[in-house]
Amino acid sequence: MRIILLGPPGAGKGTQAKLVSEKYSIPHISTGDIFRKNISEKTPLGVKAKGYIDKGLLVPDELTIDIVKDRLAKDDCISGFLLDGFPRTVKQAEALEDFLRNDNQTVDTALLIDVPSEFILERMTGRRVCPSCGASYHMKFNPPKIEGKCDDCGNDVIQRKDDTEETVKDRIDVYEKQTQPLADYYKAKDQLFVVDGTQSIGDVFKTISEHIGSRK
Ligand code: ADP
Ligand code: AMP
Repeated sequence: MRIILLGPPGAGKGTQAKLVSEKYSIPHISTGDIFRKNISEKTPLGVKAKGYIDKGLLVPDELTIDIVKDRLAKDDCISGFLLDGFPRTVKQAEALEDFLRNDNQTVDTALLIDVPSEFILERMTGRRVCPSCGASYHMKFNPPKIEGKCDDCGNDVIQRKDDTEETVKDRIDVYEKQTQPLADYYKAKDQLFVVDGTQSIGDVFKTISEHIGSRK
């Protein structure tokens, strides 16, 4: 299965991506995680991306598209993948389509996790992430079993630098202007599936799993 996860920041893409990739044994590719790893390693890509990410802006398409193409060319993507946070612009969606077309492939489904903006601020300011494995928690809705420690790898969880109230507002704005048009893009191709992201994490996963099961 080749799956795309769409939705506003804080919709639950990373949370669902982890569950889906484990259940269907497909790699979870998060462009946000790739950028954050590069930032922590101070690579040239990380240095360029940091300025945009800290401001809540999108990293330019030219940089983003190339890193995704490189990642999708790896062997573990042959039987499928789950893209979390990519595409975020129509240009990125078109580049992905062209890339897949070269191998006679298409996206099987674009899952839009729909969450109204009034839910987002609380989701994002309460988010805590594991910098080591990327797992995402929430202080109120999905706390780690041991306070402050990642359930999976035991590292200290942290608050993302771009999860402040001010940056979140900018990111919602960027989402509405640049990424929301992708819903129509995938709808026109009959690839869009919208799931109500205000449900519990378990119920969102159940709905997504049923949809994936019906497409296999
Ligand atoms: P995204 O990857 O879309 O930015 P995350 O998966 O990191 O979003 O989720 C954002 C925050 O909301 C995290 O703190 C996560 O634990 C929490 N969360 C995710 N899904 C739900 C849900 N269905 N209900 C309540 N909180 C959720
Ligand atoms: P995320 O972890 O998906 O919330 O992404 C964090 C930040 O990384 C975003 O706010 C953007 O600045 C940047 N980013 C992630 N994915 C993309 C993308 N596909 N295009 C441009 N910027 C991205």
